[in-house]
Amino acid sequence: MLNKNNVQIKTRGLTRRQFLWLSSMAAAGYVFGCATDPVTGKQQFMLVSEDTEIQIDKQYAPLQFSSDFGEVQDSRLNGYIGQIGKKMAAASHRPHMPYSFRVVNATYVNAYAFPGGSIAATRGILLELDNEAELASLLGHELGHVNARHAAEQMSKGQLTQALVGGVSVLAGTQSAALGDLAGQLGQIGAGVLLASYSRDNEREADALGMEYMVGAGYGSEGFVGLMEMLSSLSKHKSTTVDLLFATHPMSQERYDTAVQTANTKYGSALNGPLNRDRYMDHTAALRGQKAAIQEIQNGEKQMAARKYEAASDHFRNALKKAPDDYVALCMISISNLAQKNYAVGRQYAEMAQQAYPEEAQAYHLSGYSKIQLKDFEGAFEEFRSYERLLPGNPNTIFFKGYCQEGMNQIEPAANEYRRYLQVVQQGKYAQHAYRRLVDWGYIK
Ligand SMILES: [Zn+2]
Repeated sequence: MLNKNNVQIKTRGLTRRQFLWLSSMAAAGYVFGCATDPVTGKQQFMLVSEDTEIQIDKQYAPLQFSSDFGEVQDSRLNGYIGQIGKKMAAASHRPHMPYSFRVVNATYVNAYAFPGGSIAATRGILLELDNEAELASLLGHELGHVNARHAAEQMSKGQLTQALVGGVSVLAGTQSAALGDLAGQLGQIGAGVLLASYSRDNEREADALGMEYMVGAGYGSEGFVGLMEMLSSLSKHKSTTVDLLFATHPMSQERYDTAVQTANTKYGSALNGPLNRDRYMDHTAALRGQKAAIQEIQNGEKQMAARKYEAASDHFRNALKKAPDDYVALCMISISNLAQKNYAVGRQYAEMAQQAYPEEAQAYHLSGYSKIQLKDFEGAFEEFRSYERLLPGNPNTIFFKGYCQEGMNQIEPAANEYRRYLQVVQQGKYAQHAYRRLVDWGYIK
């Protein structure tokens, strides 16, 4: 009972067809939207409406957050970043947007925003900050991208939609490129493939807005200079830990110099305003207590990128000695074992990760993948079903559900999942497998 219409994938609000249409319109150079730039007040050509920005955010931000191992379970820390973020958003040009702020468990150094206002900072970058004014500056910069509609601007030029339409199976970026195919198999979204990469002009504008918002929220402009000093110093040490941050937000001497000058002139009267260092230290005390474990994970990820899995596992095991329930360390040691084809050990760590953080999806994918390798198709299917309940919209999950059903000899349900998968992804070996089966089983002639 398969036909094109009844398996049309309905993503949350925006269908793949609409996406394709949007990007093809953009590629063909049609510009039919004209909107007022919320920041400059000037007319700007815009193909993407505010509703679309919010829909894209809802569809893709949860996948990226899960790829970054979900938000931290430390609700006090999440509450804190949410409180600072809301205060900043109220001082922005688009205060009506549905903003949300969280710290994600990932240990590499990064912060990012989706076009509807979903904003995240990693544990790694919070450890680099020194006070609340620097945190406000970081969130202000991300709010700047949302307010100046930089992602929407890229979509209008057809740059971002290409990445999105190409599907989350595309593995680009830097950090996990070395993991290549493995990351796809394990249900991860390739490092940063969903994230906008901003131009130098975008960065300039986001910095200007960021400083405006943080001063508007009552902080000392020196805090923005502090953030730039930190970024500038990080950018001088080439490291996989910061690759994605600077690939998406290009750093330059000019950004630093401009911040120093603006803080001293335009916002000179706010130069000695509050930095709230004590408040920041208080709210991040638990996080800073995990610093040694986080550094072990960062070192392990560097080894993973170099495919040195044994060395990587050593670092992750050291991290677990310091923080036995660390979800990232448990997931990463599982991934490292799966990469070495130690499937039973990989499954064991995936199950520990599930216990450490039952509401987060990624560990279910790891558990499902290891069960497939151990030929436990029924068990694996349940894991992927749990994953999809927690986090719908990842095409890899759809493929693996079909693969499990094929393993259980349930041909018609398997064909349904393969059909769903091919609606989203048409390239790669999974797509070939799905297509071949549909031909073999007579669903495609
Ligand atoms: Zn930026």
